[in-house]
Amino acid sequence: MLFKDIPGQTEIKKHLIQTIKLNRVSHAQLFYGPEGTQKLALAIAYAQYLNCENKKEDDSCGVCNSCIKYQKLVHPDLHFYYPISSKKANEKPISKDFAGNWREFLLQADYNVNLYDWYEKNGIETKQGIINAADCNHIIQTLSLKAYEAEYKVVIIWMVEKLFHSAAPKLLKILEEPPAKTVFLLVSENHDQILNTILSRTQLVKIPKIQDKYILEALMNQYGVSEGTARKAILLGNGNYYEIVKYTQANQENEITFDVFLKWVRASFAGNVVNIIAALGDITSMNREKLKYFLSYGQKFFRNCLLHNLGGEKLIKMTDKEHDVMQKMSVFVTEEKFHTLNNELEKAIYQIGRNAYIPVLMLDLSFIIRRQLKV
Ligand SMILES: [Zn+2]
Repeated sequence: MLFKDIPGQTEIKKHLIQTIKLNRVSHAQLFYGPEGTQKLALAIAYAQYLNCENKKEDDSCGVCNSCIKYQKLVHPDLHFYYPISSKKANEKPISKDFAGNWREFLLQADYNVNLYDWYEKNGIETKQGIINAADCNHIIQTLSLKAYEAEYKVVIIWMVEKLFHSAAPKLLKILEEPPAKTVFLLVSENHDQILNTILSRTQLVKIPKIQDKYILEALMNQYGVSEGTARKAILLGNGNYYEIVKYTQANQENEITFDVFLKWVRASFAGNVVNIIAALGDITSMNREKLKYFLSYGQKFFRNCLLHNLGGEKLIKMTDKEHDVMQKMSVFVTEEKFHTLNNELEKAIYQIGRNAYIPVLMLDLSFIIRRQLKV
């Protein structure tokens, strides 16, 4: 993680870099701030800079041996701990058991993550994750070994407020007497839930919200979002970068779905078999889950047509582009036709779940749409 890939946070970055330049790296630091401030990304960028073999003025080099391993999150002297939970009653997992998932989780989301997504990634979203005593033992054990290759061993504990109370004394002890050249970076969203004894042993680094102008820049340059959509997302997101990125991604996904849907319905409506088959190319290449989502999008679309006809405009949530098409299409969607279309789509969703042969199923559905939308 390079500092330059984290939007904004100029002051914090400057401060962190300064501590390294002045050789004032505190061995235990707590990065705290609300969701969507990129505090975990900052902690990782800081650790990478600390160990970079060819530090630049304001960032890691990104190409040295250490940086390459840091960027893949596989450096042998970088250790992560995070809340986890067992899936079965008699399991006693530790963070290390989830290391592969963790790397994938961070890299796929550009380090822009939240706790719920992490639980969901591991199929434990209905449980309370904790950082347990076995994890604390693991930290002690890991730190008792010599560093493999880095100057500093780094331990990053994400969401340290989830540290199980009975495990705290172990962590406290090592925070008090850390081995040389070891840096603890604790990351927290609710630092008022952290034990005072831990707070008093760490240097606090308050991470503020990212300023809108930097979020706008990131959305447009990094995520390729149009300025209009980016501004709308920022307005809704209230400075929470995590939420804002999620919103724009959902929006982009929605736009793609809409385009595919429109192409298909238009071809079906016209009864042009060549165009239907071309449109089905995009659809039949979807995996089954995506296809189910696509068809439920269709149900929602037709439902909005009906709502529009019945004067329920207030209940319709659509982009301007979708709304425009919906309005035109609604002329053809009477109440009776809506019910037939809705049922047929429902049936198709069910059959897809039961391993129906998708090309034939979708072709049939195209002809049903044609029949229904014909005046
Ligand atoms: Zn480097």
